[in-house]
Amino acid sequence: MNDNTRVVSVPGRCQGYASCVITDPDRFDLGPDGRVLILKPVIQAGELGLAEEAIRACPAAALKKELETS
Ligand code: SF4
Repeated sequence: MNDNTRVVSVPGRCQGYASCVITDPDRFDLGPDGRVLILKPVIQAGELGLAEEAIRACPAAALKKELETS
């Protein structure tokens, strides 16, 4: 069993403000459609603080954490 915390985008919410990209540029970028592109969905233990900051920074509440169990 393997538990991973992932960051996902909520369909239809992203407005392309790029606050997440500015906060955590290794994880987020904007795609050709101007919407968020999640480069690194899996959040490693040492990265949680920055990932959570980016999630909070989104003015459209378009990002959320999910626990993936496999
Ligand atoms: S996810 Fe939020 S902060 Fe990131 S680009 Fe979209 S609207 Fe902006």
